[in-house]
Amino acid sequence: MNTRYRIVFIIAFLLLALSVSLSVVNYSITLASTQKQLKNSSLPLSTDNIYTEIQKHIIQPDLVASMMAQDTFLKDWLINREEDGKSIAEYLDSIKNRYGMFTTFLASERTRNYYTSKGFIEKMDEKNPTNNWYFSFKQFPDSHEINLDYNEHIDNSMIMFINHKIFDSNYHMIGATGIGLKISYVDEMLKRFRIDYKFNVFFVNKNGDNVLYERGINKLKNLKDNTELYSFEDQILAKENNLIRYSKDGEEYLVSSKFVPELDLHLLVEAKISDFTHDVIHTFYLNLLLSLIISIIIVIIILILIKRYNSKLENLANNDELTGLPNRRIFDDKLKQVILLNDRKLLDVSVLFFDIDDFKKINDSFGHNVGDEVLKRIAVIMKENVRESDLFARWGGEEFIFAFIDSSLENSEIIAEKLRKSIESDKELHALTNYNVTCSFGLTSLKQKDTLESVLKRVDKALYEAKGSGKNRVIIS
Ligand code: GH3
Ligand code: MG
Ligand code: MG
Repeated sequence: MNTRYRIVFIIAFLLLALSVSLSVVNYSITLASTQKQLKNSSLPLSTDNIYTEIQKHIIQPDLVASMMAQDTFLKDWLINREEDGKSIAEYLDSIKNRYGMFTTFLASERTRNYYTSKGFIEKMDEKNPTNNWYFSFKQFPDSHEINLDYNEHIDNSMIMFINHKIFDSNYHMIGATGIGLKISYVDEMLKRFRIDYKFNVFFVNKNGDNVLYERGINKLKNLKDNTELYSFEDQILAKENNLIRYSKDGEEYLVSSKFVPELDLHLLVEAKISDFTHDVIHTFYLNLLLSLIISIIIVIIILILIKRYNSKLENLANNDELTGLPNRRIFDDKLKQVILLNDRKLLDVSVLFFDIDDFKKINDSFGHNVGDEVLKRIAVIMKENVRESDLFARWGGEEFIFAFIDSSLENSEIIAEKLRKSIESDKELHALTNYNVTCSFGLTSLKQKDTLESVLKRVDKALYEAKGSGKNRVIIS
């Protein structure tokens, strides 16, 4: 490979290597910081937010249920007036409406009657599974509890029941009361967290059953159904907060778990890591592509500059700066090739050497600038009189040379005469100097066994003769 292209190749390679390594470094730093941020801030913060929101929605209903359990009217009614079903229905209905509850209820320990705002509903029986809640609540050590239940009778929505025990003055349990709330807001909240933050939020109970989740989206029934996650069961079902990382089907997940004592549930906030690093990877590929494009553009610019610089150098090396004509060096090289060719097969080649007459006088009378203009004009006239195949050059100072290829001596003499007359009668030259600028010409034809030196010597001699015999003429040697 050409050295100059090898250098360009190396530059391109270094550029590309630089930008690729910068992109890779940038990518890994951003990736690490994104994951770190997810792990240390977004995920724990969201878990706390959800927890706070849940608490907020539980505190007020819990206060209402607690107030009902303390109500002297309710206690008095249970102890002395239970047969008056109408007044309890009115009471439960007013609480229900005042606080916007889905339902309010009262269960009597003495009669096992169950009342709602509609009045008496049923007699509770230990053998009836729908009444189970009451009998297990009775055994429950605490004075209140929260139950989550799907309301199968109405619209299959999740209902949160807050149950409070009612005690008489001797601290004997005389019944239970409380409220039921539709917790569709949970669905809304879960959806919001999925859409806004890309988190999958759900709640499992101590058996690992998925009891609160965004329906239609989350299909997990029990932790056991997700073997990879299930292996962290101990951490998930612990009372303290935990952060778990697991992989499933080639995807990495981060799960933050928090125990919600009010609901006796474990809150799980799950993030699929690729959801968060997707943009980083996208940016990485974009960076790579941009680097590649920029590298290509730089390489193209370098190549163009090299090419321009080269042709400038070549021009400088081969051409005369003032007249733009080829210089002596390039003429010599080309003529040498013609001479070699001529040795093998005789060609018709003539060499014409000419020199401006009394050029010193032009310089002296009008200044060097006018002298330069004369040289430039002569070059233009030369170009006008030359054929594509001919060689020509500014030989030196005010000396010029032609090599007519495939042109007999007679023909070359005609061209030389024509040139001489063109110069002598040139109006532009006349305008520069106020007189007719003339040149003297020496002409010779190339012979076999000629060398560059011998042919130049001959033609120089002819020119010398032309100068000596009065100038402004063509002498053939
Ligand atoms: P002759 O008719 O015998 O050729 O006389 P001459 O005055 O033309 O010849 P001479 O060799 O004495 O002078 C040539 C002059 O050309 C001398 C030199 O200063 C001038 N000259 C050479 N190169 C340049 C150039 O590039 N520009 C200008 N203005 N003058 C140049
Ligand atoms: Mg001269
Ligand atoms: Mg001269």
